[in-house]
Amino acid sequence: MADGFDEREEELSSVEAIYPEIIITNKYTASLDIKVAPSPPLLVRFVPSAPATAVKATFAQVTAPTGAHIEHDVHLSHLPPLNLRVTLPDGYPIEAEAEVDLKTEHDWLPRSKLDELQKQLIDLWEDLGRCQVLYSYIDHLENAASSGFSLDQSDDGCLTLAASLEPALVSFDKETKLKQFQEGTYDCGICLEPKKGTQCHKLDKCDHVFCVQCLQDCYNNSITEGAVADVCCLDPSCGQAKTGQRARKPKPLHPRELLAMGVEDSMVRRYVEMKRKKRLESDKDTVYCPREWCTKPARSRKYPPIPDDLTVYPDSGSDDGTVSEPKIITDDDDRLCICENPKCGMAFCKVCYKSWHGPIERCHPRNPDELSAEDKASYEYIMAHT
Ligand SMILES: [Zn+2]
Ligand SMILES: [Zn+2]
Ligand SMILES: [Zn+2]
Ligand SMILES: [Zn+2]
Repeated sequence: MADGFDEREEELSSVEAIYPEIIITNKYTASLDIKVAPSPPLLVRFVPSAPATAVKATFAQVTAPTGAHIEHDVHLSHLPPLNLRVTLPDGYPIEAEAEVDLKTEHDWLPRSKLDELQKQLIDLWEDLGRCQVLYSYIDHLENAASSGFSLDQSDDGCLTLAASLEPALVSFDKETKLKQFQEGTYDCGICLEPKKGTQCHKLDKCDHVFCVQCLQDCYNNSITEGAVADVCCLDPSCGQAKTGQRARKPKPLHPRELLAMGVEDSMVRRYVEMKRKKRLESDKDTVYCPREWCTKPARSRKYPPIPDDLTVYPDSGSDDGTVSEPKIITDDDDRLCICENPKCGMAFCKVCYKSWHGPIERCHPRNPDELSAEDKASYEYIMAHT
């Protein structure tokens, strides 16, 4: 321009004042990531192979059906941002519209939706009388993003994507939530101090927040004292009956969560061992080894051994016995028991308590009068514990 005044540059710099994160790549081109945090969270259905019409061809190629997946519904509160790249050409805004390119990471937003948005932007430029529209464009896209681009208005009532995208999108959602949590400040219910999110932990099952130091101290104490039932949410009102509901005791924490909040591995292992022992001992079906020097429980599928990696320990549900264990159907002779003590490992019959005699032999519960004194002591022990 002869007078050095350029409307396009001026428009870009005024938008930059509102959106400082905008990247002006050259004089008339800018790029902006628009956050996608739909409220309510967007329902996304992950299927073995996405319908080809909804995704780019390049994307459909990498999503060959494996047959191993079934569809999976997930509600996502955060999705990777919508990138708006805009160039203001010569003649803009009166003679030419802004050149717009929209895309999302992983191409999660279907091409058809991007085309629809692009058309809405052109309409907006016309409707506003071909004036400077960059700010209105961004505003329009932000509004569309906050309502999940109306993707829940589709026939399925959700966004359908290839299952191969699930890990990336789910972890984006999780990481964004964690980042938001860490940026917050919380009043710890135990020490009553305000603490930064990075020093706090939100409990998986109930979302109650405490500072990590207090949680570690309390749980270490409970485990040391053998009070494993106290390794649960520390909010006194947690799990209390809401109107019309039955009161529930807060659920014990999974070892995975204790490790995540920094409780030491040896302490967590002790917790898991104590919990398992309690459950075994309170189960009337538990069978104990007849060797007097051993008397450890027999192996049981109901209470599998504790794995080296505690994060994969199966969820046990609550300890109050309200969770019913799955019934195990087996073709094996159910008299055969194997002692779980690695130093013993005795295979025995749970009816006659003799060494395992094979599945054919018929046997009877042992009569205490026929036992030697040593066996008798062992038998009495067994009777007392079965
Ligand atoms: Zn605290
Ligand atoms: Zn709680
Ligand atoms: Zn044994
Ligand atoms: Zn037998």
